[in-house]
Amino acid sequence: METEKKLIVDGVRVDGRKWDELRDIKMKVGVLKNPVGSASIEWGKNKVIAGVYGPREVIPKFEEDSTKAILKCEYNMAPFSVEDRKRPGPDRRSVEISKVITEALSSVVLLEEFPNTQINVYIEILRADAGTRIAGITAASLALADAGVPMKDLVAGCTSGKVNGEIVLDLCKEEDNYGDCDLPVAIIPKNKEIVLLQMDGILTKEEFNKAFDLVVDGAMNVYEMQKKALYEKYKNKDV
Ligand code: UDP
Repeated sequence: METEKKLIVDGVRVDGRKWDELRDIKMKVGVLKNPVGSASIEWGKNKVIAGVYGPREVIPKFEEDSTKAILKCEYNMAPFSVEDRKRPGPDRRSVEISKVITEALSSVVLLEEFPNTQINVYIEILRADAGTRIAGITAASLALADAGVPMKDLVAGCTSGKVNGEIVLDLCKEEDNYGDCDLPVAIIPKNKEIVLLQMDGILTKEEFNKAFDLVVDGAMNVYEMQKKALYEKYKNKDV
């Protein structure tokens, strides 16, 4: 079903972008003093910060695994991050997003190297404008790298979808709310393995293939930005 609301006029989207254009993205690594690793991302109007603790003692102790570390990712939206104040604390949506991010990052972190420990990743959404789970996982993987946690690679993500019947990259909030479908995806860039893929809406097979190729290209661009952000922090340090 296609929406009535006109979100693309003469090939120009509500925020002035072309169909295959990302929003402006700024990333910074090592932005907090207290966690071992941290990163912030401004992705369009989204503002996200992530902090990592560990590997450290497992609490509660019965969760300990003698074969590997346990990774716990918590995604949280600040009450002031959305237009209508969000009720503080976890809800169904944040529990689901925390779970899919934990599963995605567990594919890259070398958990076997740290048995009997836990690694905590906290993702705080300060301002939300669609695509926050992807901005969150992108920031989280940078924060893990900043913490020096061994990983196979970073995880990079992006979103594509269908708006007014057209396949577009990186949906903003209006496109997410009134569009036909959104497809958030996160990959391990070095082999393009998919570690997160969700789809809200309906696409034909051809549309899915186009949206998928587009989102993987988007994620590869995000990966280049992640590497630059890490390089910016460490270029002048003896590591
Ligand atoms: N949103 C909101 N209130 C909520 C949840 C979401 O206003 O309780 C908005 C917010 O801008 C979010 C967007 O809806 O970024 C899309 O939410 P979705 O669940 O699709 O996740 P996201 O695209 O942020 O990963």
